[in-house]
Amino acid sequence: MSSNVRVRFAPSPTGYLHVGGARTALFNWLYARHTGGTFILRIEDTDRARNTAEATQAIYDGLQWLGLDWDEGPFKGGDCGPYFQSEREEIYLRYFNRLKDAGHLYEDGGAWRFRSPRELVVLDDLVCGRIEFDLTNPETHPDITIRRPDGGWIFHFVNVVDDIEMKMTHVIRGEDHLSNTPKHLELYKALGAQPPRFAHIPLILNRDGSKMSKRDQGAAVGGYIEQGYAPEAVVNYLCLLGWSPKDNREVLDLHEIIALFDLPNINRRAASYDLDKCHWMNAQYLLHMSLERFTALSLPFIEKAGIPYGSDAALKAVLAIVQEKTKQLNEVPDRIRFFFTEAFEFEAEAVEKAFKVPGALEKLAALADRYAASEPWTAESIEATLKATAAELGWKNKELIHPARIAVSGRAVGPSLYHMMEVLGRERTVARMRRAVARFA
Ligand code: GLU
Repeated sequence: MSSNVRVRFAPSPTGYLHVGGARTALFNWLYARHTGGTFILRIEDTDRARNTAEATQAIYDGLQWLGLDWDEGPFKGGDCGPYFQSEREEIYLRYFNRLKDAGHLYEDGGAWRFRSPRELVVLDDLVCGRIEFDLTNPETHPDITIRRPDGGWIFHFVNVVDDIEMKMTHVIRGEDHLSNTPKHLELYKALGAQPPRFAHIPLILNRDGSKMSKRDQGAAVGGYIEQGYAPEAVVNYLCLLGWSPKDNREVLDLHEIIALFDLPNINRRAASYDLDKCHWMNAQYLLHMSLERFTALSLPFIEKAGIPYGSDAALKAVLAIVQEKTKQLNEVPDRIRFFFTEAFEFEAEAVEKAFKVPGALEKLAALADRYAASEPWTAESIEATLKATAAELGWKNKELIHPARIAVSGRAVGPSLYHMMEVLGRERTVARMRRAVARFA
């Protein structure tokens, strides 16, 4: 399906990409994908003093990580470029002269201001409905500046010019821009241009009701990347900030979201940001994703930690048994390190509890001997051997289970013991048990 819908994400690269911006980008992207339209990325970098190259990079990285691919914009090109406002000087001058020649501008202390026609402006917003703005009073609605004394352009002007030049059909942006929109509508009218349809999406609040700011915990998209959230989980969570499928489902496939998403079903009410819920959603995704996907998402963390995982097959065998308990991917290196090195650490407390009990090491030695001689080597047979040994020698299962776990992994909690030993293999399991017997005697 293709349509003439053209929407854009127009961030100002002045900090990092925050979840509010990411949600705006996502809603635009969803609408473009839902309608078969075009999603454009435009970098609003007119404020030279505040823009940074890192901030622009963070926008690319964040969008790419979330999978929000743009059809026109930086790296992609397109018929309406350049897609950086800093490179569109000629276009702005052309529009500036048009407004000036038509008598809409006047100079004021070196700056240029737009003379408001002082009318009632009506906005028919696709989310907020019909809103009337009375701009007749210059006390409450002073004429806006569109150009600074130093020649720099003001947001309102370049934003409108670009939306005209780039042929936007819809402007989907945060409700914090709602008060700017009547001023923008005045500019469209003065320029004789048909304005796009507007959809102002609800604010994102913290759970205590305060407005979410860039400094709040969980605000930076980069943080989710670093902590090992699955992008599909974050995308799913962000979708629910102002939109829902209206049937109480929360974990939804992206294809289905694209099919269901539409502007009229965006909520009017502010959305509440719940980091715990995002965390829960992420754990759900990690639990249910394929081993291939879990491996692919884990690899950067494993490589960064320098874990010598050997072959892909060996790594996958290990990841298959830690996937279930993993809540964030940055936990993975620590969960798997002991599989790939004999130089793993022992938790002092676990050693104390499991090995310093009279007779514990003798029992562990006996189990190691049984394992050395038993066939085959599967989780089931490993479990059966342990239980048979305990029964035969009159011990409780746990008197073998705890020392075995600490001996092979160094720690008191971890993946299923029998699967862990299966993956480690018979030789390494037995060697680790015997080494513990010698070391902690
Ligand atoms: N650069 C503006 C911002 O980051 C864009 C607003 C808009 O989408 O029109 O808020």
